[in-house]
Amino acid sequence: MFDEKENSMFPVTKTHTHSEIRLPQLPLMEAFYTIQGEGFHQGRAAYFIRLGGCDVGCVWCDVKESWDASVHPQVSVEEMVAEAEKFPGRLAVITGGEPLMYDLTDLTACLQKAGFQTNIETSGVYPVTGHWDWICFSPKKFKKAHPDIFTKAHELKVIVYNKSDFQFAEEYAAKVNPACKLFLQPEWGKSAQMLPLIIDYVKANPQWRVSLQTHKYMDIP
Ligand code: SF4
Repeated sequence: MFDEKENSMFPVTKTHTHSEIRLPQLPLMEAFYTIQGEGFHQGRAAYFIRLGGCDVGCVWCDVKESWDASVHPQVSVEEMVAEAEKFPGRLAVITGGEPLMYDLTDLTACLQKAGFQTNIETSGVYPVTGHWDWICFSPKKFKKAHPDIFTKAHELKVIVYNKSDFQFAEEYAAKVNPACKLFLQPEWGKSAQMLPLIIDYVKANPQWRVSLQTHKYMDIP
């Protein structure tokens, strides 16, 4: 039987069906259907959900407008999934901002129930919540990663902005689980200087792979 008192509580229990409950809202900066441009799943059609809010403070961040969560509308998990279902692809990528600032249990449960593969792009500074098919961990020098991420990451993607980032990448490669795929990706604005170094590094250290922001070359979001 539907219990109004219980329905007013947040977050909801997982035993109810969607028609019986109100699922949480999250600050949504943008959502769009495109091609995953980078990393292990590069080239696949994907529905991106970009949540607002980030306190990591990367100097070279290319989505600084995501930082202040309060300027982005609160959108229900149900609405987000309904929008995603309008497109044929069944890969959802949750990004930000830093999406793990929020409990993503309900969002990922709803996406998976609708048949989506759930991938996340995270700096790993918060504990992992949610049901993930793929966790892309992109550590940042500006804020320490939470140890929760090391056993759970499927992919380590280090952005190379200067030469010292190779050492930084190796420090994290030593911490993640042995199955974790290793990627080096030039920071877009430093690509001309860093890509030749990355190419040489990967040739000498073939456990790493090159990741490029191919969506920027394709001029798509
Ligand atoms: S973690 Fe991501 S969104 Fe946050 S500041 Fe760094 S690059 Fe920007």
